[in-house]
Amino acid sequence: MTLALHTPPPKLDALMNVARRPDAVFTHGHGSWLHDSQGRRYLDLVQGWAVNTLGHAPPQIAAALAAQSQRLLQPGPGFFNDRAAELASRLAALSGLDRVFFTSSGAEANEGAIKLARKFGQVHRGGAHEIVTFENAFHGRTLATMSASGKPGFDRLFAPQVPGFPKARLNDLDSVRALIGPQTVAVMLEPIQGEAGVIEATPGFMQALRALCDERGLLLILDEVQTGVGRTGTLWGFEAAGVKPDVMTLGKGLGGGVPIGALLAREAVCCFEPGDQGGTYCGNPLMCAVALAVLDAVTGAGFLDAVAARSAQLREGLDAIARRLGSPPVVGRGLLLALELPGDDAATRLASTLIARADEAEPGLLVNAVRPRRLRFMPALNVEAAELASALAMLDAAVS
Ligand SMILES: *Cc1c(COP(=O)(O)O)cnc(C)c1O
Repeated sequence: MTLALHTPPPKLDALMNVARRPDAVFTHGHGSWLHDSQGRRYLDLVQGWAVNTLGHAPPQIAAALAAQSQRLLQPGPGFFNDRAAELASRLAALSGLDRVFFTSSGAEANEGAIKLARKFGQVHRGGAHEIVTFENAFHGRTLATMSASGKPGFDRLFAPQVPGFPKARLNDLDSVRALIGPQTVAVMLEPIQGEAGVIEATPGFMQALRALCDERGLLLILDEVQTGVGRTGTLWGFEAAGVKPDVMTLGKGLGGGVPIGALLAREAVCCFEPGDQGGTYCGNPLMCAVALAVLDAVTGAGFLDAVAARSAQLREGLDAIARRLGSPPVVGRGLLLALELPGDDAATRLASTLIARADEAEPGLLVNAVRPRRLRFMPALNVEAAELASALAMLDAAVS
């Protein structure tokens, strides 16, 4: 397929202004490369916000979409379909959880987890409904998931909040204990807080939390929307701590760029009855076919070994830059890493500089300033060693 590289820039003022975005208008991509309407190219370590597991426009996804689009798009959520059944079985077998409900986004999967926990509280815990969540957590942008989030400012935006989400401090078990009462039904967290700046829940904390939940009869809900499906170097983020959740949510990387999320739970927790939960596009076979192709790739021989190798390469390169700048060592796991830069807004300014340097001769570099002083790296899981080497060289030159 040939694509016109120089198309007139489309008018942008019909789009609601919900984010500060650079001027480039992206038109096509391939693997780790993204191209804009002016013929400029960019090495992309943002990858749709950690969603493009296999990079831009991977052939497996194009093939899955083409094949499934000619068979069945969506018979409707009131009927079974073969792709959703197959994907649910695969996810159950791979996670050790028992049942799956599909959604179209991560927020919707978390919203479903919150509903499932509240229903569980009604059925098994005398109406307990509070879910302990964490400061700086991010669980999505529906009203309930914003209320569950601990992002500064979310408590006032669109007030009043949905009640029932007391906030503990990550890696501080006493702060969790202090919030548990007769109304508590669950504890919910991200194995690594991505939007907070790549802040890891320590293995010790995760294990202690699992023990605490068992002791108090609480559900442990893990939001693996960002950490799931190989992003942290293991298939699931929870593997690093060796703890199993009662409920887990997925999104982002599961679809490799298409909208699909999932809510998974242990059999004993699955208390939804017909009519409790649903959604028009839930479990549509078109998106399920894509997620199956993504899982095929990620569980394929050698795939996660390559993620570990690329992770080591990126960490080593970033750590060398960190040492030169006098910054602390890189944080994160797998291909979800972050680098702290000295100076106010240093990350924000560097991310803009790297994208702005693109002209027809030189490529730009896309990185995410997750915090004003912190850069986050979330390349495609199949990024090549040479691509990471170029990205590190561009970064190195830009910080010098
Ligand atoms: C992105 C994200 C979400 C929200 O997912 P959407 O698909 O944007 O609704 C929820 N939780 C975590 C940890 C995320 O990173």
